[in-house]
Amino acid sequence: MLIKITKMKTDVLIIGSGPIGATYARIIAEHKPATKIVMIDLGPKISDKIGQHVKNITDLKTAETAQILSQGNKKEPYPMISVAERAAAVQRGDLRPEFLARAGTHLVIDEIADLQKNEMPALSLSSNLGGMGVHWTCACPRPGNDERIPFIPASEMDDALTKAEEILSVRQDAFPKNEVGQTILNVLNQTLGTAHSTKREAQAMPLACGKDADGNRYWTATDTILKDTLENTNFEIRSETICRKLIHSEGKITGAEIEDLTSGIKEMIEAKIVIVAADAIRTPQLLWASGIRPKALGHYLNEHPFIFTFVELNIPNAQSTTSKSHDPLTGVFWVPFDAPNHPFHGQIMHMDLSPMKTTVSDISKHIVGLGWGCLKEVNFDDQIVFSEIEKDYLGMPKMTFKYKYSENDLASIEAAKQFQAKVIASFGKEIENGQQTLMPAGSSLHYEGTTRMGVENNSESVCDTFGQVWNFENLFVGGNGVIPMATTSNPTLTSVALAVRSAEKIVEKL
Ligand SMILES: Cc1cc2nc3c(=O)[nH]c(=O)nc-3n(C[C@H](O)[C@H](O)[C@H](O)COP(=O)(O)OP(=O)(O)OC[C@H]3O[C@@H](n4cnc5c(N)ncnc54)[C@H](O)[C@@H]3O)c2cc1C
Repeated sequence: MLIKITKMKTDVLIIGSGPIGATYARIIAEHKPATKIVMIDLGPKISDKIGQHVKNITDLKTAETAQILSQGNKKEPYPMISVAERAAAVQRGDLRPEFLARAGTHLVIDEIADLQKNEMPALSLSSNLGGMGVHWTCACPRPGNDERIPFIPASEMDDALTKAEEILSVRQDAFPKNEVGQTILNVLNQTLGTAHSTKREAQAMPLACGKDADGNRYWTATDTILKDTLENTNFEIRSETICRKLIHSEGKITGAEIEDLTSGIKEMIEAKIVIVAADAIRTPQLLWASGIRPKALGHYLNEHPFIFTFVELNIPNAQSTTSKSHDPLTGVFWVPFDAPNHPFHGQIMHMDLSPMKTTVSDISKHIVGLGWGCLKEVNFDDQIVFSEIEKDYLGMPKMTFKYKYSENDLASIEAAKQFQAKVIASFGKEIENGQQTLMPAGSSLHYEGTTRMGVENNSESVCDTFGQVWNFENLFVGGNGVIPMATTSNPTLTSVALAVRSAEKIVEKL
């Protein structure tokens, strides 16, 4: 029987509704409101308000349901594991999914046998309207000297970063100042010393967060980024709609094969411009499935190694602060990347218990989570391997990962550990069994390089500096995958800035 496939036309098709897809939609709709934009996402709508941060949902049960709905084929909550259990498991190389995955995400590979062979076992994704951007911690530090992309003029990148900060509503006063926080900063600055560059001293972490007159926080997610795009009648957003393949001819995308996952109904969308913002793992997956396979696609996979520990602060008679929100954080601090003085990124979560769930809950103890990351060399052989035969749970090409630390990487990790050890010694003592742990590869949730940008159309990049895929007149890619550098600072701010630049270019084209 012949199945008729419906066809539709739009000006712009955006695949992926995370922070990057949302940035493209907003910039294009703001500059050219009459542009017809269709945005699709394979994941479901997980809360009443499209794309809101899970931390803004006050009812904890509803928030947990939203997390589970984002977990692809993993339909139950992850078991509550204490820090001690998780650290001990990681240290003895026990790679069971419950020790690796985080609420709101799902592992790309979760079969135990496959996990043991996989060189990036903790690699995780979110599959929902809003993507990882409704689960993220909202840390938006500006990248430091060696982390910046050398071939984008500094002033241009600074302008784009400023626009990205506006779009994400980045601020350093999300948490009110308090005495303990000030003590934490003093300790961090003493350890860092004074040889740092201007504005790279330890400070409050820039966070993507709105705040009302009463001090209530509203964490930024896709809803904040889209702003009033949702009310634009030329904008359409569809959940549970996957793009399986891009059809192309002579350097032009002529159609996108999409499928409604609830009904199985297929459709062909013809768009003047196609933007793939389907995260750093599934953007290359879709291109590969479509037969768009430049040599660099899926290669140069990079993330920052991440060392984590919990420390009980040695601060006598510290007052606990009254948080205005239901989340347990009372502050987030930042020791910026600044080579060569501090070629690391330090993120200090005062009372936040991520990325490890913990049984410690006594606020008077003043626990801090200390995360220290360092650069990992960019290497062609670190890569996503796509299967020609096997499929993932959605019927897309199955992916496995090759990822190795070089001698230099191991030396950087050791140096980061030593710096972190100095910080620990200045603060107090690590909680029992929570000692410095190099988290399994994939734990950062910051994956880069798989659709990397470059200045020359050669085998080392997939797209130009505006995200336009080489040899295609109407195909753009966005997200952390386009970042060509090793970075250790959280990458979303940079990716939003690059998406702003790219979207402005698309507006000119339209
Ligand atoms: C717990 C957590 C904490 C984090 N903390 C921080 C932080 O503090 N700072 C920071 O910078 N970053 C952080 N991140 C990472 C940050 O969330 C990501 O960098 C950001 O969301 C990437 O945006 P994106 O739009 O490129 O991808 P995503 O947000 O992952 O969105 C991609 C979307 O594409 C959809 N998709 C994929 N394939 C297809 C397809 N074929 N068809 C249709 N749709 C598809 C997916 O369903 C997904 O919704 C964190 C992430 C998590 C999970």
